[in-house]
Amino acid sequence: MLNKILQQLEPTHTKLIAVSKTHPAERVMELYNQGQRIFGENKVQELTAKYEALPKDIEWHLIGHLQTNKVKYIAAFVSCIQSVDSLKLLAEIDKQASKNGRVIDCLLQFHVAEEETKFGLDETEASELLQSAAFLDMKNVRITGVMGMATFTDDLMQVRREFQHLKKIFDNLKNRFFGDQPSFKEISMGMSGDYQLAVEEGSTMVRVGTLLFGVR
Ligand SMILES: *Cc1c(COP(=O)(O)O)cnc(C)c1O
Repeated sequence: MLNKILQQLEPTHTKLIAVSKTHPAERVMELYNQGQRIFGENKVQELTAKYEALPKDIEWHLIGHLQTNKVKYIAAFVSCIQSVDSLKLLAEIDKQASKNGRVIDCLLQFHVAEEETKFGLDETEASELLQSAAFLDMKNVRITGVMGMATFTDDLMQVRREFQHLKKIFDNLKNRFFGDQPSFKEISMGMSGDYQLAVEEGSTMVRVGTLLFGVR
């Protein structure tokens, strides 16, 4: 399955984040041995345990909601925090990254799903964040793009609209705030059920769990 997905992503150079949440370290090792190096987890405790147990050349992405008081546990090693949804959280990441002498890559998470339950910013909140003095002072975080989750539905037209919305947000932010920063380039969207659609709509990073590891 890994190779089939990689072949589909190849033409657009879309990156694969293998979402290993709930699956044991041995399952991660199976994919690692097939060459996969980027893995995603949604809980700090599980991420930390797997980081400690597994090879150190794995790139770990945090993809789930992050509480401010837990940033300190992952700041020394996390490659990318995809779920930044407030200035307060970003400030804490900056502080903990600084303590570790690092710059941590972050994605701004947007609420693009029509359903109510998901975390994330809207465009107005994001532009306030990006214009704030507090953000402009931060030296240890680098915003490399956006992340979003579509509604869990069979209505593929709706899912496509939500991906188009996230792409539009990315383009607007790029124009307004990151025009001179080539590192702002990531659109993290697409999961097991909708990653092909996401790639068609401009995804640069898909987060696939179930298709690679089986049902949780
Ligand atoms: C679990 C999860 C995924 C992977 O979902 P699958 O449907 O198992 O591929 C992707 N993104 C986020 C934010 C997740 O929590």
